[in-house]
Amino acid sequence: MKKTILTIYLILTTLILSSCSKKLNKYEGSFLFLFDTVTQIVGYAESEEAFREFTDFIHDELETYHRLYDKYNSYEGINNIKTINDKAGKEPIKVDQKIIELLKFSIDAYEQTGGAINISMGSVLEIWHDYREQGIDDPLNSTLPPMELLEEANAHTNFDSLIIDEANSTVFIQDSNMRLDVGAIAKGYATEQVVKSAIEKGYTDFLLSVGGNVRTVGGKGKDKAPWNVGIQNPDVTSSQYSLYTLALIDLSLVSSGNYERYYTVEGKTYHHIIDPNTLMPSEYFTSVSVICEDSGLADVLSTALFNMPYEEGLELIESLDGTEALWVFSDASMKYSEGFEDLIKK
Ligand code: ADP
Ligand code: MG
Repeated sequence: MKKTILTIYLILTTLILSSCSKKLNKYEGSFLFLFDTVTQIVGYAESEEAFREFTDFIHDELETYHRLYDKYNSYEGINNIKTINDKAGKEPIKVDQKIIELLKFSIDAYEQTGGAINISMGSVLEIWHDYREQGIDDPLNSTLPPMELLEEANAHTNFDSLIIDEANSTVFIQDSNMRLDVGAIAKGYATEQVVKSAIEKGYTDFLLSVGGNVRTVGGKGKDKAPWNVGIQNPDVTSSQYSLYTLALIDLSLVSSGNYERYYTVEGKTYHHIIDPNTLMPSEYFTSVSVICEDSGLADVLSTALFNMPYEEGLELIESLDGTEALWVFSDASMKYSEGFEDLIKK
């Protein structure tokens, strides 16, 4: 499909600002399909045309990452995560440096979080994915994956089997039963890389949200005011949509929650973040949000904190400079890290 069909722009002017030399308008744009979600961009430009140029740039960059990090679809002339998985136990695959960087970042994430986030858990996550999809299609006959099956898959989640040959730019999964799943990291990591190249190109003062993975750059308007970003209430039945509104400059906000993707078995819901220790959906919280500059790190940490007890997560967050978090427990009570309150909009 051509990009013009795939890309749906909703451009609206909401505000006109004047500065000494040039007049800047505020614009919003959005497009669908990349990372299976909605991307939204808010920024300032001299004209709709100039803003369009900016959103085209963001779109094209994001699309490149989307294709490389896709584990479900193949694209002509591109070796991506799906190709690597398809060739597990068979042969090394030549890949773009952007894949090697993501994999290295993911291995660091595994180590930094004590294994709470593990991209080599693809075989376990695939089983949950299949049972979830079946349960959504046919709710009356939904079932849980047998623990035996999960444990069998879990025997094939060892990073030692992932061979990254940087000199030859190849990746090889030695274990034919191991699969990669970069779903917990790729969106945030790609967002961060795209933002970095936009900054390099000279773009400034914008907000990029890839399916709720929010990255702010600079501030709003003439006086560079902070961007106001809400933290979604995990209780989707509540009339209160946001728990807090944060005021962010050069920061990312990423949340992981049990309300995003789930299915129901005998009246109980099972969501999509799997605790590597129990191989079951993690039950510590209904949502965890992380705020820090790097949107890749925020994506890693929100998923990882979701998988660990509050005390352990707090210790991890407090050990990292410039990183804050909000934990929401199933009884709707909340706890947050030391500097979180300073980020709440006054
Ligand atoms: P989302 O992408 O839905 O906003 P997350 O960033 O928390 O939320 O990522 C969830 C996805 O990460 C799951 O759909 C699955 O593909 C993957 N995943 C689930 N549990 C783990 C885990 N323990 N380690 C690594 N990846 C995981
Ligand atoms: Mg994540």
